[in-house]
Amino acid sequence: MDSSRVMKLLALPAFDDNYVWMLHDGGAAVVVDPGDEAPVDSTLASLGLRLAGILVTHHHPDHVGGVGALAARHGAAVWGPARERIPDPFRPVSGGGVVELLGLRFEVIEVPGHTAGHVAYFARDAGGAPLLFCGDTLFSGGCGRLFEGTPAQMHASLQRLAALPGATRVCCAHEYTLANLRFAAAVEPGNAALADYAASCQARRAAGEATLPSTIERERAVNPFLRCGEPQVAAAAAAHGAPSADPVEVFAALRRWKDGFR
Ligand code: ZN
Ligand code: FE
Repeated sequence: MDSSRVMKLLALPAFDDNYVWMLHDGGAAVVVDPGDEAPVDSTLASLGLRLAGILVTHHHPDHVGGVGALAARHGAAVWGPARERIPDPFRPVSGGGVVELLGLRFEVIEVPGHTAGHVAYFARDAGGAPLLFCGDTLFSGGCGRLFEGTPAQMHASLQRLAALPGATRVCCAHEYTLANLRFAAAVEPGNAALADYAASCQARRAAGEATLPSTIERERAVNPFLRCGEPQVAAAAAAHGAPSADPVEVFAALRRWKDGFR
């Protein structure tokens, strides 16, 4: 395999606010969480790409809705979390596993919380630049809702992602950034990095551009759900029901506060 190939990363908009991520080398493509097959098919056709594989992070319909049609039409293999119902046939993956596609190694990280079996995929592209497909676990400025997991699980999952290299490009499955940053500003009104980032994201959205990918370094600086150990964040959480400054209690209070935040 030619490791000098240049990889292109595309965020294909789907539904109201989903992104189907596509990584391609000019010949073959991998897509992540194709909830809808239409944007994938049209992009494959317009760029003349072959679909080499489909990676799935969790079982929700907005992430798997297009999997069956794409797998059948393109003969592409599907990988997804072993513990979830993913359209068959799929190859089950779990933590510590590796999927090899496009000459890259996608490492599987278990990140339960949004769903019980949610996984993320971490890879380094041909130039060695790290990248993360994290589904609905980590969003820019926020995190997924706890549908099937506990606050302790989700907090641990987010800490695992936060420990990845700072330069890691964070490919989230939804464009939720502006709403997340409004909440983040309520948690940390004095965070200057957050205010700067919010201004740049507002400009990008106004220009019709995606705010993603983010980076792990950026998320550590602005995302309250990764900052549960910060005194300012703990104080804000205490005012919203956190019984102590324990990071899991802080996380749980933030998540409940955000669930009702408008
Ligand atoms: Zn989901
Ligand atoms: Fe989703």
